Amino acid sequence: MKYMIGGNWKMNGDPHGASEFLHRMAGKGSSSAAADIVIFPPFTLLAAMAEPARSAGIALGGQDLFWEEKGAYTGEISPGMLREAGAQWFLAGHSERRHLIGETDTIVRKKLDAGLKAGLKAVLCVGELLEQRETGRTEEVVEGQLRSALEGIGPVSSSSLVIAYEPVWAIGTGLTATPDEAQRMHSLIREWTVSIMGEDTGGGVRIQYGGSVKPGNAAEILARPSVNGALVGGASLKAESFWKIVQAAGSG
Ligand code: PEP
Repeated sequence: MKYMIGGNWKMNGDPHGASEFLHRMAGKGSSSAAADIVIFPPFTLLAAMAEPARSAGIALGGQDLFWEEKGAYTGEISPGMLREAGAQWFLAGHSERRHLIGETDTIVRKKLDAGLKAGLKAVLCVGELLEQRETGRTEEVVEGQLRSALEGIGPVSSSSLVIAYEPVWAIGTGLTATPDEAQRMHSLIREWTVSIMGEDTGGGVRIQYGGSVKPGNAAEILARPSVNGALVGGASLKAESFWKIVQAAGSG
């Protein structure tokens, strides 16, 4: 299974920095990287990044979308608008949207349905809060998020869906799940996804790990057999550190 390394820039980045990032990635050989590379910049940078990203062999994605195509939805962005701006992917259910903005499982599902229907590819983020982990609810929470997002979703090709397991307590904190913990959760996620979507799709979707992945810990996490890539926040902002993670995936 080809690794996928995603870079979630969150609310960071500017036109000059984005152009420099792509230039550096291209110079390092991103167009022939062994892993698929997808950057999720702020919406405002997508259109300007589309052409240089294509030349650098890097796909782009939106960090969010709304489930309607157009209309009176102030501040929202539709799947079609994302596509027009050059995105091929979108994030659904990132923990910062679930827990800072209050997105429920129902909203995540509506976004997932709308984006996939519009021909975008999805990274569905799931993961438990620290308090849920400490009270032994990790499996129940993650399985519930998966079932609510994916049950009855209809035909989806395995290349159009990636699941990112991101324990919330590990995002932006410098804490990471140990490679063994990541492996255990990823293999459970694989079992649940197969039980929801069947062997053909559920067995083929990639499962990324996310949560303080850095050049220093990427190789060990990516070497675990059930880890098919990484979703990277902080360390994706600079080409130097992001490229080291992409290379760690290449050597897995
Ligand atoms: C993320 O935003 O999905 C993420 C994993 O962030 P960080 O790598 O900074 O923990």
